[in-house]
Amino acid sequence: MPAAPASPYEARRLAAVQKLRLLGTPAEERFDKITRLARHMFEVPMACLDIVGEKLAWLKSVQGFDGIEGLRKDSYCHYTVLDDGVCLVQDARTDTRVFDSVLADYWVFYAGAPLHFEGERVGVLCIGDSNPRDFDAEKMSSLIDLASLAERELQLAALSEAQVALAASHEELEMKARIDVLTHLWNRGAILEIANAECAAAQTDKPMAALMLDIDHFKTINDTHGHPAGDEVLRVVASRLRAAIRKSDAVGRYGGEEFLIILPDADLTAAADISERIRQEVASSPISFGELTIPVTCSIGYSIVQNTVQDAISSLIGRADSALYRAKSSGRNRVEVGAASCDEDVIADAVGV
Ligand code: GH3
Ligand code: MG
Ligand code: MG
Repeated sequence: MPAAPASPYEARRLAAVQKLRLLGTPAEERFDKITRLARHMFEVPMACLDIVGEKLAWLKSVQGFDGIEGLRKDSYCHYTVLDDGVCLVQDARTDTRVFDSVLADYWVFYAGAPLHFEGERVGVLCIGDSNPRDFDAEKMSSLIDLASLAERELQLAALSEAQVALAASHEELEMKARIDVLTHLWNRGAILEIANAECAAAQTDKPMAALMLDIDHFKTINDTHGHPAGDEVLRVVASRLRAAIRKSDAVGRYGGEEFLIILPDADLTAAADISERIRQEVASSPISFGELTIPVTCSIGYSIVQNTVQDAISSLIGRADSALYRAKSSGRNRVEVGAASCDEDVIADAVGV
């Protein structure tokens, strides 16, 4: 791919990207909503919202393909942030800017609108197809309208301090080590780091809750419908979890079909309400996969850390985990509360934190 021209304002642009603090962070429902809408509105198979860093394009929300990041030099988005207005590639195979890109056979058609933050073009909302397409002025202006909705979301500070600190503490090219590739959630190591930081804060400040969630009879889903169907169930459950929690909460894939959710500033009543809401959201409708519709439920165990009580995250997770075990043994598709303090019912060693 020929080297795209460098912008004389790149340093200013990168400063705005850093300030945005979204590089290296997992998918969020508020952006997924917009990429889903883009895909439906323009009837294309692929849509993506990415933040363009110094060397990479961080794929904050993707629809219709897998990925977390791409090298900026290979991506069409690099061209999109050079100018205002829509960057259009109608047929990548004959477009002199991108014909030899690694993406050219896959993203044959591309339309991207830049996303502004503090006056700088920090990212891109784009759509794609593996076939060439026409894209008229009316469609371009609709894509810009949709991008302006995404820009409003960029303005909203969202992630908790623990999540921001985690994302910021890693070099740009190492960011994917923190994200689970299948679900675009935090991975086990990352969610445990967040849990530790929030747990320490909870002991001097406000209470926090930990929820352990496990999909019911997941092995049967794999055995009946195949592993790719199981993978799709994991993706959709992850997206339902994102939809059910607050922006400052954190959710990670703890194991195969097990998720850990951290709710800063949640007491026992809040944790009970949120757990029940999550259970209902996961079971809200069967999951479509090709011709299949797959019903899905989950079981949840939760526990809280009260301020002033000395407690370790391993103990908190252990209490949530034993509550989860009770939810499973008493019938599944239910929520159970764990013991209130580390003096009771501790199985910390069993979770190996
Ligand atoms: P329970 O209701 O008691 O939780 O039963 P279960 O069948 O959900 O539990 P079990 O732990 O027996 O099954 C978990 C399965 O998850 C086994 C494993 O093959 C599958 N699994 C783990 N990771 C993945 C993955 O990334 N993709 C898919 N498709 N399956 C996975
Ligand atoms: Mg399990
Ligand atoms: Mg299970």
